[in-house]
Amino acid sequence: TRFATLKSKPQTKLAPLLKSWENFYTRRLYDRIIDVFNRPICSSPSAWITVQERAPHPETSELIQTGKERRCLNLGSYNYLGFADDWMNTCGEPVLKAAREWPTSCGGTRTGVGTTPLHRKLEAKVAKFVGKEDAVVFNMGYGTNSTTVPALVGRGDLIVSDELNHSSIVAGCRASGALIRSFKHNDAKALEEVLREAIAYGRPRTRRPWRKILVMVEGIYSMEGEICDLKNISKVAKKYKAYLYLDEAHSIGALGDTGKGCCEHCGVDPADVDILMGTFTKSFGGMGGYVASSKAVVDHLRRTCPGVLAHDAMSPIMCAQVLRALDIVQGTVKGSLGREKIDALKSNSNYFRSELQAFGLHVYGDWDSPIVPVLLYNPTKIAAFSRECFDRGLAVVVVGFPATTLVKSRARFCVSAGHTREDLDDALKKIKEVATLIKIRYNVSGFG
Ligand code: PMP
Repeated sequence: TRFATLKSKPQTKLAPLLKSWENFYTRRLYDRIIDVFNRPICSSPSAWITVQERAPHPETSELIQTGKERRCLNLGSYNYLGFADDWMNTCGEPVLKAAREWPTSCGGTRTGVGTTPLHRKLEAKVAKFVGKEDAVVFNMGYGTNSTTVPALVGRGDLIVSDELNHSSIVAGCRASGALIRSFKHNDAKALEEVLREAIAYGRPRTRRPWRKILVMVEGIYSMEGEICDLKNISKVAKKYKAYLYLDEAHSIGALGDTGKGCCEHCGVDPADVDILMGTFTKSFGGMGGYVASSKAVVDHLRRTCPGVLAHDAMSPIMCAQVLRALDIVQGTVKGSLGREKIDALKSNSNYFRSELQAFGLHVYGDWDSPIVPVLLYNPTKIAAFSRECFDRGLAVVVVGFPATTLVKSRARFCVSAGHTREDLDDALKKIKEVATLIKIRYNVSGFG
């Protein structure tokens, strides 16, 4: 209703360019819920954030800033270990030191003039942390997947990818030219069926054997909050002599007793996962990504992967930040609370999940996962949920089509070690109020 009187958009010369995107959903729905996305924030993405308020212009319906700000409890940022909360005390000093010594950009690729001692140090530290021989770091997590996969597989190869893998993986798979088969989400038996059939049949037309087979999975699925069934999936990959690629964007730092990710959580030897990929944007509060593997694979990526060869190197200042975050997680900084942060994240995540479940909400995902999605079902509830939460001082992320199917719209809460129990209780109280108001509890009458 806040956007009931939409004016039709002026036609421009570029309108045909946008035609395939301007479908019924975007024209009729997205414009009416646009205020719940891209809200400008003006503080660090810590447990509490300050959000700038916006309202539709009375004549054009365009969103304009009201000049007011609202302090909100933040359940939307990937601030898993709470680095955004005490940034100055934990990572601030080494970053400021690096900023005095290094430029913000290397002005070149890693292969050119973009490799500093900080990059080398970070790569050695990451490799040791995840239990691999070597690692290479990239400027961007998305670009890590989308450029690494094509550097590993190509025509004549087969990729078997979880059906809910992240768009960066999908982009990498498509760019590789390999044949792509998907398997039912997180289902080792379904993976085995796909592999058995693909191997029995061989390559299309020629029926020659596949040159290589790459299985692609994630540690924690970003929209589902589900943890990979790595034990069974790695067994199947091994049985069919397929290589296994694990994206740990959300699991590195967040899962396992010492934050070493999905392998540690599932009791799988890192040697059984051929490629360990991860990002620094979630648990470590930085930017960039990495691939850790054998020395030979990492050397191959250094020589051939466009994300290394043709992409500007990760900023040395960012390297300093991630190095520090890793030291804190590993407990090597005097007085740092690495282990406590990981334990706090786990207990916060499980408390929050259990309370929402007990209240009768449809909660996706697994215990220990800091991603807690709650189904809103009907896409029209996306805006209602987000606005009602925002009015109560709660910043949440809501997700709908095309990131999910139309009827599986959801709110995706991200729990942090930086949240106190009082924060979570306050959030739960407000979420329960809103859930009752918009009828998303499945065990009460009037649901839906
Ligand atoms: N992989 C997964 C599973 C992700 O969820 C994301 C982003 N959320 C990425 C890769 C890309 O990482 P980045 O945002 O660090 O570029």
